[in-house]
Amino acid sequence: MTSPSTSSSPASPPMPRPMFDAEHELYRSNVARFLRERILPSHAEWEREGLVPRDKWREAGAAGLLCPGIPDAYGGGGGDFLHSTIVVEEIARALASGVTGFTTHSENVAPYLLEFGTEAHKQAFLPGMASGDIVASIAMTEPDAGSDLKAIRSSAVRVDGGWRLNGQKTFITNGWHADRVLVFAKTTPQAGARGISLLWVDTQSAGFRRGRLLDKIGQLAQDTAELFFDDVFVPEDMLIGQPDAAFGYAMSGLIRERLLIAMRCAVALEVALDWTIDHVKQRRAFGKALIENQHIRFKLAEIKTLACATRAFVDSCLTQYLAGALTIDGAAMAKFWAGEATRAIDDLMQFFGGYGYMREYPIARAYVDVRPNRIYGGSAEIMREVIARGL
Ligand SMILES: Cc1cc2nc3c(=O)[nH]c(=O)nc-3n(C[C@H](O)[C@H](O)[C@H](O)COP(=O)(O)OP(=O)(O)OC[C@H]3O[C@@H](n4cnc5c(N)ncnc54)[C@H](O)[C@@H]3O)c2cc1C
Repeated sequence: MTSPSTSSSPASPPMPRPMFDAEHELYRSNVARFLRERILPSHAEWEREGLVPRDKWREAGAAGLLCPGIPDAYGGGGGDFLHSTIVVEEIARALASGVTGFTTHSENVAPYLLEFGTEAHKQAFLPGMASGDIVASIAMTEPDAGSDLKAIRSSAVRVDGGWRLNGQKTFITNGWHADRVLVFAKTTPQAGARGISLLWVDTQSAGFRRGRLLDKIGQLAQDTAELFFDDVFVPEDMLIGQPDAAFGYAMSGLIRERLLIAMRCAVALEVALDWTIDHVKQRRAFGKALIENQHIRFKLAEIKTLACATRAFVDSCLTQYLAGALTIDGAAMAKFWAGEATRAIDDLMQFFGGYGYMREYPIARAYVDVRPNRIYGGSAEIMREVIARGL
C-alpha cells in the first residue's frame, strides 16, 4: 500500500515550461522547502484547530513567500508574475491548503494598493504585508450577496473626516488573523455597481468585530471568518482609489485572480494523478497490481490526457497574461476549464478504495481542498456567463 505522502513523481509537470528561467526555479525550490519544513510538519494539527498560527505569517514573509511580485521599493520580492504563480503552484503541490490565504493576501489584496493606492498607502502598508506584520483580507461577499457584487448592502456614509461603515461580510479568507480588511461598501447606493468604494479598514477600529471562524468541509487550516462592521469610522485617507470606482477595479483584478486559480487547479490535478499512479502500481488485488486492470489503466490514461490538455491551455493563458493579452473571457475559460478538470480527482480517489476516504491520505484532502476553486473568484456558472457574453 502506498504510504500517505504528498511527494510527487518527477513526471509532474508533464510538459516543458519555458517561461520559467533558472532564477524562477531556484525560487520555486525555496518556496517548496519552506512549505515542506515550516508548514507541513504541523499542518494536520492546525487543521484540527482551524487556523495556522499567526507567527507563520512572519516566517513566510522572512522566507520571501509574501508579496513576491510587489516592487522591492515597497518591501516586496521585486519579482514578476511568475514568482506569484510559483507560490500558488507550490502551495497546491504541497497540499498546504492552510496557507492558501498567503496568496489571497499577496495576489488579491496587495495589487489593489499597488495599482489604486496613493504613494502614502504603498509606503505605509506594503512593507508590512510583505514581512507578514500585516495580514490582509479582501471582503466582498455578504450573507445575501456573493456572485452579484452590486447587490451588497454594506454601506459607508460620509462623516466629518471620513466614512462611517456598517455591514456584514462572510466567507472571508484570513478574516480571523486580518489586521486590515479591504472592504467593498456602497457609498452611493442609488448608483448600483457604480456606487461601490474600497475602504481599507483597521481591525483595531471601534465597531469592528469578528464572528465565527467558519467550519468548512476542506481547507481546514485556512482561517475563513465572518466580519461585522458596526458604525466603524474609516478615516478619509483610507479610501483606496476613487470613490464609487470599486466595481471597475474588481473587474480588472479578476483576470489575474482567475488565472491564478486555474494554475492552482492544474497542479492539483497533476499531483493527484501522480499519487494515484504510484498507488495503483503498488496496490494489489486478485493477484495483480490495480494498474493491470484495463478499466483503471484506461481511466488514468484519460485523466493524464485531461491533465496535459489543462496544463497546455492554462500555460498558454499564462503566456498571454505575461504579454498583457489575456482577456476577461480568456481568464474565465482558464478558470472554468481547470476547475472542471479537477472533478477527475473524484475518479482518482476511487482507485484508493477505503484509503481514499481517510484524511491521512493526501487524495482525500485534495478532494475536499480543491472544491472551492469552482466557487470562489467567480463560480463556474458565472464563468460560463462571462464566456457567453464574449460570444
Ligand atoms: C473557502 C472560501 C473562501 C472564500 N473567500 C472569500 C474572500 O476572501 N472574500 C470574499 O469576498 N469572498 C470569499 N468567498 C466567497 C465566494 O467568493 C462566494 O461564495 C462566491 O462568489 C459565490 O457567492 P455565494 O456563496 O453568495 O453564492 P450565490 O451567489 O448565492 O450563488 C449560488 C449558486 O447560484 C449560482 N448563480 C448565481 N448567479 C447565477 C446566474 N446569474 N446564473 C447562473 N447561476 C448563478 C452560483 O454559481 C452558485 O452555484 C469564499 C468562499 C469560500 C467557499
